[in-house]
Order: sequence, then structure tokens, then C-alpha cells
Amino acid sequence: MIYDVIVVGSGFSAIAVTCNLIEQLPASAKVAVIGDDPGFGRGTAYRTELYLHRLNVPAGRMSLLPHRPDDFVDWLKARGRRLQAGDFASRSDYGLYVRDTLARLLRKRDNRCRVDLIKAKAAGCVERYNSTLAFQLGNGDEIAGRNVVLCLGVGNASLPVDPASVPPFLRSRIVENPWRLSWLRRVAPSDTVCILGSGLTMIDQVLALRAHGHRGRIDVLSRRGLAPLGHARTPPAPLPIDVQALPGTISDILKSLRAKSREAADWRAVMDGLRPVTGALWQRLSSEERARFLRHALPWWNIHRHRVAPDVFDRFEKLVSEATVRFHAGFLKSLAAEEDRLLAKYRVRATREFAGIRADWLVNCTGMERAGISHSPLLKEMSRIQLIAPDSLGIGIQVDAASEVVVPSRISPARLFAVGALTAGQFWEITAVPDIRVQAKAVVEEIVSTLPAPEA
Ligand SMILES: Cc1cc2nc3c(=O)[nH]c(=O)nc-3n(C[C@H](O)[C@H](O)[C@H](O)COP(=O)(O)OP(=O)(O)OC[C@H]3O[C@@H](n4cnc5c(N)ncnc54)[C@H](O)[C@@H]3O)c2cc1C
Repeated sequence: MIYDVIVVGSGFSAIAVTCNLIEQLPASAKVAVIGDDPGFGRGTAYRTELYLHRLNVPAGRMSLLPHRPDDFVDWLKARGRRLQAGDFASRSDYGLYVRDTLARLLRKRDNRCRVDLIKAKAAGCVERYNSTLAFQLGNGDEIAGRNVVLCLGVGNASLPVDPASVPPFLRSRIVENPWRLSWLRRVAPSDTVCILGSGLTMIDQVLALRAHGHRGRIDVLSRRGLAPLGHARTPPAPLPIDVQALPGTISDILKSLRAKSREAADWRAVMDGLRPVTGALWQRLSSEERARFLRHALPWWNIHRHRVAPDVFDRFEKLVSEATVRFHAGFLKSLAAEEDRLLAKYRVRATREFAGIRADWLVNCTGMERAGISHSPLLKEMSRIQLIAPDSLGIGIQVDAASEVVVPSRISPARLFAVGALTAGQFWEITAVPDIRVQAKAVVEEIVSTLPAPEA
């Protein structure tokens, strides 16, 4: 059988695409969703079971379907959660909501397209008969489709040093993937922990450690030692930003935004005003300026733009103020054993000096560093045979304004799209639900518009 659409992935993006396909495709159409994640719809972000792991976007902006903006808030109300549109729900609830939304659409048997959810890893992809793309699955099967949507996320960045340099008895104390929360059960209350990376994943892990009874010291090492900031309890009104009036280089844009922040009562008003026009601003930047932004401004962008819920921020700040959590700015150079502990040696930022952090555990929270296609054997293989091409910034794959994959040498009727952070080179602001849901709907509309009409 040849599918009309194959969706590859099982996180939010894949489920958003699938839900839109169910709503828009004729009953005669056939869809396959290939995902290697047992919890279809949860992905990395919404798999957590801890209530402390909160969304960083208010509930009122987290509906899966942009044309039904209150969907998530209504779902929360129906579950008896006392949360309003401006509150920050738990990520585990959000994972359940995404799963429920898909299940609700699948329960509708009449007049809906066929959807096969296939639990498998897509291991390879080839073009067949110049009209379909065929995926080889980890279970040995092969499935082919006329339209494909890649929803693979950006994966986890690996440790910047080789853990093999550490004797085997200590290697089990290096947590390469902190999202397998089982490691928390092995940590003794007084153990010391070194966390690599200081973004949102670090805050999640610190709070998860505390919730598991950990009371020891936590050292956080990152290149700049910057941590995410908090949302305001009463958000300021966004300050409208005229993109056309902004200068053309990153350094001048930053100067202008800093000046606006000084004038505004709260800098968040400027960031929130920038939010709806970030895509337009990105389109105006030359490739050199985009690369300059990634090299110099990204850490500052991340901490101001991806903020944490106010109460989560307060809890974290208390740990910092009482020196339970300490920050170090530098570059990890090596990992070694010192007696029965790990020694992380790093070069101190802006100096030639070296320093060391001794800890019982080392946790890799460099997480959502933009790993490009390097995290995915499937994408690397697709790039090798020129089905996709990396974007010029190396943060994802080349797509056009309609999210369709662009490879100059490929001319084929089988259409290939990408949704989510893999398309950041083109859109930049495409890692969170409010943007991905719009992209998912637009991609489905494009696919539906070119499918042959069902036979009468
Ligand atoms: C900890 C964390 C918290 C976040 N919090 C928020 C938030 O509060 N609000 C918000 O809007 N955004 C948040 N985000 C951003 C989040 O990334 C997006 O909201 C969204 O979850 C991205 O989903 P995705 O499907 O694109 O990627 P992912 O969730 O990474 O899913 C990709 C899926 O593809 C599967 N896959 C990969 N390769 C293959 C293959 N070869 N074959 C089959 N399947 C494959 C993976 O197993 C995975 O399930 C958060 C992200 C993280 C990491």
C-alpha cells in the first residue's frame, strides 16, 4: 500500500500534523505516523511526570489547534484543574492533552481518513519509482508515501568530552540523557552534582533533584554562566515593535532593543512585543547577520525569550541565593576520576586559567543545543543521498517558505516537508507550540490542496 502522507516522529509536531490531517483529509486518504517514542505526542518535553515541570508558555497560548484557541484551557477545566489562560500548567498534563486530542479525533470512525500509528524507528529512506519516498523501519518493514512530513525535533546534544576517559566504576555517574528520570533515584541526599549547561533543562533537573530529597551542592557549568529569567507575575503589555524601523545588523538591533528596554517599565514588554514579529525580523537578516546572532547573541536571547513560570523561578532563585546552586562560566576540557569522584576540568571564560569541579554526578543538560542533523542517523543518511540538505547555519535542514524541503538537485513528484525546530534556519522562531501549531496546519493545507480529489 502507498500512503498519501507519512509523518515521521512522535512528538508534538507529529501529532499536530496528524490531527490537522484527520480534520482536513477526505475519508479515502491513508496516513501513516512512524514514531519510536512509546508515548505518542509527548516527545522529550511532555514526557515528564513531575508536576514541578511546568510549561513556559501560558495555558491560553498552548492549544494544539490554532483555530480553536481555548482548546487546552477547556481541557484543563474539564479535568478539574483550577488554572486560567494566563497560568502555567504542568508539562505532564500537556502531554496528556496532546494524546487525548489525537485519541478524540481517532475515535471518530465515520468519514475520517485511515491513520496507522506505527511504533518503529525510521532507519533509512529512498526514493522509489520517482514518485514515492520509502522508509525502512527498524522492525524490517518498509512503507512508502507520496507526501512526507519530517517531525524529528533536534535531539539531544552529546557530551562535549568523551566519557570513556573515566574509569568504568564512575561512568554510571555520568547522566547523558537526564530525561530518563530514573537516575534521580540513585542520587544520595548529600551527593554533589555538576550540571553541564544552564538552560531550562538545568532548572528542571535542579528542581527534580530537590523533589527527590537531594540536599547537596549543585555546580552548574556553562559557557557563559547565564540562566533563564522568569515571567512576570503580572505581565506588562507588549511594546509594539516596528520591524521595518529596526537597523540591519545584529549589534545595532541589540542597541536599539536595549534602549527600548531602558524606556519601558519592564524589559519583558520589549521581548513580548518582538515575539509576533521575530519571524519577519529573521527574514530581513542576511546569512552573515544570522550567523553573527548565533555566535554572539543566542545565550542572551535564550534567557530573555524562554522564561520560566514565576513560582518556578522563585524556587530556583532561592537555591541560588543560599549558594546550594553555584554557577561557573567556562569550557569543559576533560573528565577524569579523582579518588571516587568525578573531576570536570574547565577553562575559565575569558581567561587562560583552568579550574575543576569535583562531584559525585555529572549531568548533561546541554540538551536543546541546536544539534542540526548530526543527532539523527536517518537525517544524516537522507543528506548523504541528497534527499535533504543542511541549512547554511548548520542548525537544521533547508526548507522554503512553505516548509517544503529544498534540494536543488532533486526533482520529484514525491513531496517532502519538515515541521518544528529542524526548520529554524528558515523561520528561527519555530521551537515552541504557538509557532509549530501554525506551521503544522499550513503544511497540511498545502498537502491537501494538491491531493487528487476523491472519486465520487
Ligand atoms: C524540556 C522542554 C520543555 C519545553 N517546554 C515547552 C513549553 O512549555 N512550551 C512550548 O511551547 N514549548 C516547549 N518546549 C519546546 C518543545 O520542543 C516543543 O513544544 C515541541 O515539544 C517540539 O516537538 P517536536 O515533535 O518537534 O520534537 P520532539 O518532542 O523532540 O519529538 C521528536 C520525536 O521524533 C521521534 N523520532 C526522532 N527520530 C525518529 C526516527 N528516525 N524514527 C521515528 N521517530 C523518530 C523522537 O523519538 C521524538 O518523539 C520544550 C522543550 C523541552 C525540551
